[in-house]
Amino acid sequence: MFEGGQRIFALFGNPVGHSLSPLMHHTAYGEMRINALYVPFCVPNLEDAVRGIRGMGIGGVSVTIPFKSEVLRYLDELEESASRIGAVNTIVNEEGRLYGHNTDWIGFGRDLKEFLPIQGNTFGVLGAGGAARAVLFGVLSEGGNPVVLNRTAAKGEALAKEFGCSFLPLSEIRLLKADCIVNTTSVGMAPQMATSPLEAKVLGNFPHIVDIIYNPLETKLLKEARKAGCRTRSGLGMFIQQGAEQIRLWTGMEPPVESMKRAVREKLEGYEKN
Ligand code: NAP
Repeated sequence: MFEGGQRIFALFGNPVGHSLSPLMHHTAYGEMRINALYVPFCVPNLEDAVRGIRGMGIGGVSVTIPFKSEVLRYLDELEESASRIGAVNTIVNEEGRLYGHNTDWIGFGRDLKEFLPIQGNTFGVLGAGGAARAVLFGVLSEGGNPVVLNRTAAKGEALAKEFGCSFLPLSEIRLLKADCIVNTTSVGMAPQMATSPLEAKVLGNFPHIVDIIYNPLETKLLKEARKAGCRTRSGLGMFIQQGAEQIRLWTGMEPPVESMKRAVREKLEGYEKN
């Protein structure tokens, strides 16, 4: 696996032990016949780690929790959407100059469009963290109408104001008329799989429910939504599409999206059997 001349890509996060990004990226590079290694780093000091990208000539880096906002200050340039969202999940190293991109909103939009049209539809977006910002940007850029719903009203209101959309406290979700609800909170993510951000009795009000969590593949929210008759979508497609966009940025080549999805899905299904 380790040999001279390999291109090196990396993941910066803390923790990273659970990440399926190495599996996804190596599946792609193997099929694309790109001689590359994608290394996960559990980063204790982000500033030093970013300096290491230049110092070691790492070609590109995925950035994950908790560094997506902090990393902005260490980069040379920000692509416009990353600057607007206020989060970077992808760094491109072009001859020592580090460019910050955000591919979460692209991944979200590409996958959502396969599920239902965005233009003209109303989306209730649960949460007000970094993922909510990417989802709001994705919905707005495709002509959708997002409504922020958040537990902490002040945070949700501020976010809605910043993105020019409306806000509703999460406790008033029964008043919302929306075509789709998108969960961007981490409620229901492994290992807290017995939790859901919404009571089952409100789910039937919405024809479509999306959870951007992909582990487990079917969260409690999606399970209850399916039982309530809603069409549902997990975060797997978003995860694959955001990674595919990173590969396009780093290599200029088209990644094998279906193989990447199959590899990650099989791994997740294996967790569920154990
Ligand atoms: P975050 O910044 O921690 O945001 C958390 C948000 O969730 C906050 O607004 C918080 O509300 C809300 N929240 C937390 N616990 C809650 C509860 N018990 N009830 C109601 N609301 C609650 O997290 P993030 O970085 O945005 O990420 C969120 C999720 O998105 C993670 O599960 C992550 O894995 C997933 N994600 C998936 C993809 C993908 O490719 N599929 C990409 C990015 C992120 P308050 O403001 O009230 O505290």
